[in-house]
Amino acid sequence: MSRILIVEDEKRIARFLELELQHEGYEVLLAEDGRSGLDKILQDRPDLVILDLMLPEMSGIEVCRRARRETDVPIIMLTAKDDVSDKVMGLDIGADDYMTKPFAIEELLARIRVGLKKHRADGVGAAHEGVLRAGGLELDPVSYEVSYQGKAINLTKKEFDLLHYLMAHAGEAVTREQLLKDVWEYGFAGDTNVVDVYIRYLRQKLDVPHHLHSIHTIRSVGYMFRMDADRDEGKDAQENG
Ligand code: CA
Repeated sequence: MSRILIVEDEKRIARFLELELQHEGYEVLLAEDGRSGLDKILQDRPDLVILDLMLPEMSGIEVCRRARRETDVPIIMLTAKDDVSDKVMGLDIGADDYMTKPFAIEELLARIRVGLKKHRADGVGAAHEGVLRAGGLELDPVSYEVSYQGKAINLTKKEFDLLHYLMAHAGEAVTREQLLKDVWEYGFAGDTNVVDVYIRYLRQKLDVPHHLHSIHTIRSVGYMFRMDADRDEGKDAQENG
């Protein structure tokens, strides 16, 4: 039986979610503020977390940030606002998905199923997967570490997933839609700007400081990972707009 932790200070919503999830056969844990939510994530090791953004004691963003140092448990954030910057911020600090309030319970249940399934699939896949290497860059899918010439590069989980995907498809042009589907899985139908935002983050952490040209823009297609010996100064950044 999967255990789901609900971190939500609005009792009415927490109770509603608890009943719905129990009805679906999940074991439910509850926390009413950010601090006890973080404690429960770390101590009770739930299989999935539903995390409200606006919480007393500690914000959902901070809970997520701290939880991510210790665990890759799937986190679905509940946000009050529906704007891209909120979504990007939540996902950037390591949430796997978000729902905007008010939400349809069926949609949340569907996302919970996907989150649990993906997490299990990741666990199985990671154990069989080796370290990816390209021109001094190393990515370890088991320990979630990335380094260039032995020096660690700190990536958020989503940036890591994106780089992982690109490296696994090195030399192939991948479309933004493909990245949305395979890296984000759901929730961003048509909103390919998110991909461009994350490509920019990756370039800022990977290419710019190390003078590399590894993530190429393929005009009117998408992106391609390929370690080039000579950096094509600035060209890609301009294409990316
Ligand atoms: Ca709240």
